[in-house]
Amino acid sequence: MSERLQSKLRMTDRVVPIVDARRVKPLPGVGTLRAAEAKSGIDTRDTLGRPLRDLRISVTDRCNFRCTYCMPREVFGPDYQFLPRSAVLSFEEIARLVRIFHSQGVTKIRLTGGEPLLRKNLERLIGMIADIGGLELTLTTNGSILARKARLLRSAGLQRITVSLDSLDESVFRAMNDADYPVSSVLAGIDAAAEAGFSPIKINMVVKRGINDHTVVDMARHFKGSGHIVRYIEFMDVGATNGWRMDDVVPSAEIVRRIDAEMPLEPIDPNYFGEVAERWRYRDGSGEIGVISSVTQAFCRTCTRARLSTEGMLYTCLFANAGYDLRNLLRTDTTDAAIVAAIGRIWQVRADRYSEIRTEATAGLRKIEMSYIGG
Ligand code: SAM
Repeated sequence: MSERLQSKLRMTDRVVPIVDARRVKPLPGVGTLRAAEAKSGIDTRDTLGRPLRDLRISVTDRCNFRCTYCMPREVFGPDYQFLPRSAVLSFEEIARLVRIFHSQGVTKIRLTGGEPLLRKNLERLIGMIADIGGLELTLTTNGSILARKARLLRSAGLQRITVSLDSLDESVFRAMNDADYPVSSVLAGIDAAAEAGFSPIKINMVVKRGINDHTVVDMARHFKGSGHIVRYIEFMDVGATNGWRMDDVVPSAEIVRRIDAEMPLEPIDPNYFGEVAERWRYRDGSGEIGVISSVTQAFCRTCTRARLSTEGMLYTCLFANAGYDLRNLLRTDTTDAAIVAAIGRIWQVRADRYSEIRTEATAGLRKIEMSYIGG
């Protein structure tokens, strides 16, 4: 890493001490379930009329990267206490919840973390979820060990994969992952995933001004024509440790402008209601890119996502500061019908729209870390 970049990372990544925001909210009205409700489930629309359609599941809070914007080494160092094994949901517990969520209209599951490929025998969980049927099953990974696992994941029933890659520039990438992983390990993972039959592969690049934004166009050029879709993500104020400032955000509109100047683009329609990425295609027909503008163009109004943490807390927003303890229900002989009703109640009272109300001041609020809640 160049000294200039190193000092820039130090200057911009003002790290604040971690606060434990893993607070538990009481489950709304679970003790007073009416029998009829428990039998039939509940209409899952929240207070803003949004249905529950997606569940993101964090299968581990551990990661082999220390991305400066997500798990800064100063906080997630050798003394950081990750969850003990006993706190982590088992595959059976996760699969049970997936079945229950599916019965309530969830059609898409994303496995994430931490780094999901660090969870031992993950392919077994994938097989269990695939056996439920009727679900789109996807995974987000940093790609560092994907080359070894791609075929296994595919044959277990994983349908789609997203790989995070913040730059093709070796020194920029190593500085951002802060764990000395080379670009080549991630590119090898992407190639292996393509060979295993994943298509299209999405490649997520978080863009931070002054750190990797000068490599945005290189990334587009590299994957143009490959069939893979690069998606540029605005740097967000998730958690409380990444020292987020509005000045660090490169608006998606600027990213589109920069790429368009060299490789002309035109907008295209979303694939489905609530798609987070805004789609653009190359005018010469050689593929598409996406931009995820959660800071400059909040998409809370169409957010149909719930998030399950590694230890079974349910969060109704990426920027939440407290969750609902589903693990306790799983481990206390609660029936599926009662869990259905609890989830329905949680969703019915949901009013989250953090990205619409974000300011520099809200960025400092106690929020759950992304590695814990799942990206
Ligand atoms: N370890 C996996 C990975 O690297 O893809 C999955 C978890 S990671 C938390 C999921 C995604 O969240 C990654 O694409 C990562 O770059 C993104 N991410 C993490 N912190 C972010 C932030 N502050 N702003 C925007 N995206 C962020």
